[in-house]
Amino acid sequence: MADTYSHTADIIIVGAGVAGCVIASRLSAAQPNLKILLIEMGRDVRDDPAVRTPGIFMNNLVPGAPYSQFYVGEPSETQLGNSAIIPAGACVGGGSAINWMVYTRGSMSDYDDWKNKYANPGWGFDDLLPLFKKSEAYFGEGDASTHGSDGPLQVTYGGIVYKINLEWLETASAFDGRPVVPDAQNFKTSNAFARWAKWIGKDGKRSDIAHGYLYPQMDRSSNITLLTKTRVSRVLFEGNKAVGVEYFTSASDPPTLVRAAKMVIVTAGALSTPQILERSGIGARVHLDSLGISVVADLPRVGEGYQDHLVLKAEYVREPDDSWREDVLRGTPEVMERLRKEYAEYGTGELASNSIDAVAKVRPNEKELAALGETFINSAWPYFERAEDKPVLWSAVVGSAMFPGGFPSGQYFATGGWMCYPLSRGRIHVRSKDVFEAGKFEPGLLSHEADVAAGKWLYKRGREQARRMPSYRGEYAPMHPDFSADSEAACKAGLGVGPVPLDAPEIVYTPEDEKVLEEWIRKTVTVSWHGLATCAMRPRADGGVVSPRLDVYGTKQLKVADLSICPSNVSANMYSTAVAMGEKAAQIILEDLVAVSA
Ligand SMILES: Cc1cc2nc3c(=O)[nH]c(=O)nc-3n(C[C@H](O)[C@H](O)[C@H](O)COP(=O)(O)OP(=O)(O)OC[C@H]3O[C@@H](n4cnc5c(N)ncnc54)[C@H](O)[C@@H]3O)c2cc1C
Repeated sequence: MADTYSHTADIIIVGAGVAGCVIASRLSAAQPNLKILLIEMGRDVRDDPAVRTPGIFMNNLVPGAPYSQFYVGEPSETQLGNSAIIPAGACVGGGSAINWMVYTRGSMSDYDDWKNKYANPGWGFDDLLPLFKKSEAYFGEGDASTHGSDGPLQVTYGGIVYKINLEWLETASAFDGRPVVPDAQNFKTSNAFARWAKWIGKDGKRSDIAHGYLYPQMDRSSNITLLTKTRVSRVLFEGNKAVGVEYFTSASDPPTLVRAAKMVIVTAGALSTPQILERSGIGARVHLDSLGISVVADLPRVGEGYQDHLVLKAEYVREPDDSWREDVLRGTPEVMERLRKEYAEYGTGELASNSIDAVAKVRPNEKELAALGETFINSAWPYFERAEDKPVLWSAVVGSAMFPGGFPSGQYFATGGWMCYPLSRGRIHVRSKDVFEAGKFEPGLLSHEADVAAGKWLYKRGREQARRMPSYRGEYAPMHPDFSADSEAACKAGLGVGPVPLDAPEIVYTPEDEKVLEEWIRKTVTVSWHGLATCAMRPRADGGVVSPRLDVYGTKQLKVADLSICPSNVSANMYSTAVAMGEKAAQIILEDLVAVSA
């Protein structure tokens, strides 16, 4: 068998996404003689303006986008027959090369739950805080003690601030009665408005993981070999010891086998990692048997428990101002030329921003809780009662239309938000041994009624905030529920439509409106693209797949270290957590390497 391997490395890392790049870089720096093979299915992105220019991030969601892949869910009853289409990064840098760059951190109790509730020593807030800090150079407001100042990933407010977003901050906080604080990303704040910083550097470029960690380390040291456009199908075993991987450079070429002398680490993301494990013989025995895959470890929860943050948003027409954001989305040539010039010279302007400048973390008060309803109170609320640092929802504004091209002239904004700890769960599993055949993905969006209630509330809150903003000129009806024309809830737009006073009565929705709203929610719900928990770091008896040392149960020399291991959800956009996880994994791996060689 040994002579069929084309190449031997000490460590093979599968997936050059966020966690994979951090691990490769830290191992390379700590052990210059270690031979690291980093394998990525997508392309290289070094100095690629399509990745580094923040303002064009929406291009990554267009079908066929070269840096993204799209997981297509099965048509779902809970989405009234629709299929979820969920993008993920597919290039060096993974999600960090295509994400929306909003800078967010979870709650202290999220990580303490990982440690205490799910029995993972070393993964509590106090363990991870130094790693969050180590990764970043933060140039925003707030308590410096929770932020880093000289890490490789810069965080700023970007190259422009949108007036419409500040207008929302002022109006929505006045309407809601929640305070505006300098910094909501201190792991403690759970019920306030704030400006929203971004993973954008002082030079106006995206702070993706490849340019922050990987490329600088590859320039300093030659012990990382990076293979791109190379898709790993499975991990190879001798007995239960991982000894290498099989990969393909195209569907028509034969596979190549590479050997790992010391360890294989899978960091292919929450929707790919479980599929790689299953093709390798790690998963539910009954499923693997049905596909003719030899079982290495019978772990029934591989691919189960998928969750994300569920998103609802709606679009509004606004009084035009001096923003050019819509022209960026439309790609208006003369505007783009001017903006590119400014960006190239100063690193500022619309191309140096994601147009998302403000956010609120929300814990409902008594009145709001009553509006969320009995189902929510009985099934979702108990989770929050015990931890005051956990927001229930995030609410936000985007200072433009949220979709690339294809909308009428004029200017827009969007309000909405996402559920921090939805109760809906899904799964992903392979259909065959073939790495080029898409897995069966059942995301389970809105499979829990409490999430439908939260979605309704998000829509109504966002709309009440929007219609009080001075620049509001009505709803953009194609992006709203189709309420009956004679209902008070019917969308308004056109001449003469303007804001209502701050203390105006709220829209009353009839039972018929509620039905229309629920249908719209089920058809339009999406996620924040923060998939996690499909190979959970929990005790094996509790459905776990990896141990706190990241070892896949029942195997040797195989670790998983991406967001698939989250034992429970985190109230944050997940880039910061994936980076901290990569840092933590690198520490663990280095300890293991030292222990083996001692
Ligand atoms: C569109 C979008 C917007 C987002 N916006 C934000 C945001 O604004 N703020 C924020 O904090 N977070 C955001 N996120 C989330 C964040 O980027 C991800 O949570 C994070 O990238 C996850 O890191 P990871 O290491 O687990 O996986 P990833 O970064 O996804 O890395 C996995 C890597 O493995 C590779 N891979 C997969 N399968 C194989 C295979 N078989 N062989 C070889 N390579 C493989 C992939 O190509 C990818 O590069 C967003 C994500 C997306 C997709």
